[in-house]
Amino acid sequence: MEHLKTCPKCNAKLKLSADGETQYCVICKYWTKLGTARLDSIMIYA
Ligand SMILES: [Zn+2]
Repeated sequence: MEHLKTCPKCNAKLKLSADGETQYCVICKYWTKLGTARLDSIMIYA
């Protein structure tokens, strides 16, 4: 599982979204799904 603590783009602190599976950055709107790089499921959520 890969947990990011800071945004790879602007280095701000990432927040955990309400679904508990997505981390997002309030500064630049970067977001990533926890522990997976499955783009298919990311597109469903987007
Ligand atoms: Zn950011």
